[in-house]
Formats: sequence, structure tokens, C-alpha cells
Amino acid sequence: MAIGKFICHKCDKKLEPENIVLEYLGRRMTHQFLSCPECKLIYIPEEIVEGKIHQVEIALEDK
Ligand SMILES: [Zn+2]
Repeated sequence: MAIGKFICHKCDKKLEPENIVLEYLGRRMTHQFLSCPECKLIYIPEEIVEGKIHQVEIALEDK
């Protein structure tokens, strides 16, 4: 993921990477997402969310 090309449209600030804890199906995982230092909006690209959740679903089905 290219860091630095994403700008918060509301604040016009460059988004910075931040560790976010996700909870999905009772599992916790930490993932780095871009967030706005001004309004704390977390920018999660849809393809990353879908890819991540798809991976978790596959991992759970294997067990
Ligand atoms: Zn902002």
C-alpha cells in the first residue's frame, strides 16, 4: 500500500498509518490503516477489508 498518497478530504491533511485492532468472528487482529491526524477518520480501502476478511474466513473453514 502506498503511504502518503491519501489525503483526508475534510481536513486536507495527509493520512498517517496507525495500528487499529479489528474484531472479527471473535478474533482480534491488529492491522495498520491510514487515519487522519486531525479528525481521526480511519481510511480502510474496501479491497483490503474484503481481502482480509476473506482470508480469515478461509482460515476458519480449514480448522
Ligand atoms: Zn480529517
